[in-house]
Amino acid sequence: MTTTTDSRLTAGVAVPESFVERYVEVYKHLHANPELSAQEFQTAEYIEAHLAGLGIDSFRCGRTGVVGILRNGEGPVIGFRADTDGLPIAEQTGLDYASAATGALPDGATVPVMHGCGHDTHIAAALALAALLSERVELWAGTLVIIFQPGEETAYGARAMIDDGLWDRAPKPEVVLAQHVMPLSEGKLLIRGGHMASLADSWKVTVHGRQAHGSQPEKSIDPIVAAAAMVMRLQTIVSRELPPTTPAVVTVGTFHAGLKENIIPESAEFSLNVRTPDEETRAAVLEAIRRIISAEAAASRAPEPVIEELNNFPRCFNDPASAARVAQAFRADFGAEALVEAPLGMGSEDAGWLSDAIGVPGVFWAFGAFEPGLFEDGASPAGNHSPFFAPDARAAVVGGTGAALSGVLAYLGRN
Ligand SMILES: [Zn+2]
Ligand SMILES: [Zn+2]
Repeated sequence: MTTTTDSRLTAGVAVPESFVERYVEVYKHLHANPELSAQEFQTAEYIEAHLAGLGIDSFRCGRTGVVGILRNGEGPVIGFRADTDGLPIAEQTGLDYASAATGALPDGATVPVMHGCGHDTHIAAALALAALLSERVELWAGTLVIIFQPGEETAYGARAMIDDGLWDRAPKPEVVLAQHVMPLSEGKLLIRGGHMASLADSWKVTVHGRQAHGSQPEKSIDPIVAAAAMVMRLQTIVSRELPPTTPAVVTVGTFHAGLKENIIPESAEFSLNVRTPDEETRAAVLEAIRRIISAEAAASRAPEPVIEELNNFPRCFNDPASAARVAQAFRADFGAEALVEAPLGMGSEDAGWLSDAIGVPGVFWAFGAFEPGLFEDGASPAGNHSPFFAPDARAAVVGGTGAALSGVLAYLGRN
């Protein structure tokens, strides 16, 4: 029986308002205390303490990752992943629980930190899910492995957990689920079969030349001219080498060279970020980048430039049958009108590694947590990574927990 003070998480499950309020407080605490990628030490301790308070076993994995294991008799084993890191952003939401935290980047620079991608909503929803399932054992059967994954923003965490023996230490799941808050109305869900996020690669390129006086270009090999030619020609990959229907991005985000206007420097450096929709396009674009960099260096009589990989995000691929199963649960729990469609965005995710590492399907969906009024007349609220990104706390908890519960019960539900 539910009462008027209960909140409905899914069609079949309601919780007392006090439960929602408790996890809104958890969310606000997490929001006010973000940590940078791979530095989520306090966040990990908070998660461990919360799970311990619920009587749930957990272990540390990948330094700042936490794995909680809920067992409830015979049944399937599935994984559910929540990422935990914040971003180097100065929060400007004006919320009374806004972050004033700072952190240190790998180069030592002190920066403001914000949960600007909403990973705090993922943690809060996963903890609420754990609390609910540890109490409501009549709803489900099997084993749920909840993966609190650090370092998503730097494509570090999923790989770090796998390298630290995640799937040797936790029961192997038949599917790994994951979710992300997006600028969608509360109650809305986005899921589809196939690619849910783009593959991404970041490289640093160092172009060497020969240093000379600015008045004697004949004695130089000018790395600025060579690198500038590379940057311009890289723009032809998407426009001239890919079909117009294939979405891809090649962005050069940094370019540094020289110290003085009358010195042709020895080297120039730039970094680039590539987004591609699938492995085939990725291979084609990365090959084209290497070819252009190499050929432009040769055109300038420069030696072969040095390319370093900074990071890469794998595919985030929804197995069609598994995605259909979760989508069906969503329709049953929230109504067909809750599901929205959207084309492939060029964001990236490392959740796919968790399932691809053991050759099982992954399912990734997005949930909304914003007041519908914010979308009127074609408007939309500030998106992920904006200093103004501000999901509604209550909608995040109810929507995030409800979607997680629905997805998990699609595999572990007792009916
Ligand atoms: Zn992000
Ligand atoms: Zn994110």
